[in-house]
Amino acid sequence: MAVWNRLLLGVRARATNTSRSKFRAFYSSCSMVNPEADLKASPPSSSSSSSSLLGSKPLPLRQDHHHHHHPVQWVFLGCPGVGKGTYASRLSKLLRVPHIATGDLVRDELSSSGPLSSQLAEIVNQGQLVSDEIIINLLSKRLEAGEAKGESGFIVDGFPRTIRQAEILEGVTDIDLVVNLKLREEALLAKCLGRRICSECGGNYNVACIDIKGEDGSPGMYMAPLLPPPHCASKLITRPDDTEEVVKERLRIYYEMTQPVEEFYRSRGKLLEFDLPGGIPESWPKLLQALHLEDHDDKQSAAA
Ligand SMILES: [Zn+2]
Repeated sequence: MAVWNRLLLGVRARATNTSRSKFRAFYSSCSMVNPEADLKASPPSSSSSSSSLLGSKPLPLRQDHHHHHHPVQWVFLGCPGVGKGTYASRLSKLLRVPHIATGDLVRDELSSSGPLSSQLAEIVNQGQLVSDEIIINLLSKRLEAGEAKGESGFIVDGFPRTIRQAEILEGVTDIDLVVNLKLREEALLAKCLGRRICSECGGNYNVACIDIKGEDGSPGMYMAPLLPPPHCASKLITRPDDTEEVVKERLRIYYEMTQPVEEFYRSRGKLLEFDLPGGIPESWPKLLQALHLEDHDDKQSAAA
């Protein structure tokens, strides 16, 4: 325990000296220039189509990533099955910043001989949740290692999940934008229930073909399935916890836990809500538009 506390205190002390003050400067300058600008930037949370988002005022996004060297320090939120890892990973390639998924950090530490690996193994083997302290510790170690290697910026995916984590993260580094990916519940449910794994090679597929017809002004939605190659097709299995009941419960817990996190960032003028209009080919260009980014290889990557 003493080791954790020391590490955490160390992180906090360093953060106070650098990032914290930077954060305060950023935040106070935003509110001084135009106290309402940030709040207006978020579309109403009741909006159900991405078009309302595109029509609204942008968040304090940096429209000039490529010209100035101000790093992107973003967080991706979104419920299980929304595909946030996919979008975070694509954006990190486009912006040439690392994509940091906290799930990967835990897996990497487990497979290493690092100082945390044996404690982590014990926690995971006992089926317990990895504590905020350990996650934030792994995350700050990762950020420090990146900084030492000359990396600038990051896209963090899957963190923070609770207000407490958001508060700790605020003390560790500056987050300038939080992208909250959303998908209509019916599509989300169908996608989760359509997940299949190849029992032989472990490949991930999705047999759900989502084709919701637009009606009464609400847009339709199409998401193509991700079908397996022929040699996997006969070996597909469904994860035992991908039942409708379990998926619904998982979503309920997610919403309950993360709604306060959304509010945390909304009140700081940092939350960008993005309603995914469909699969990657439909969503990727619109997400870039919402972020004021351009992908010159868009045609190839959207088709990939
Ligand atoms: Zn296979």
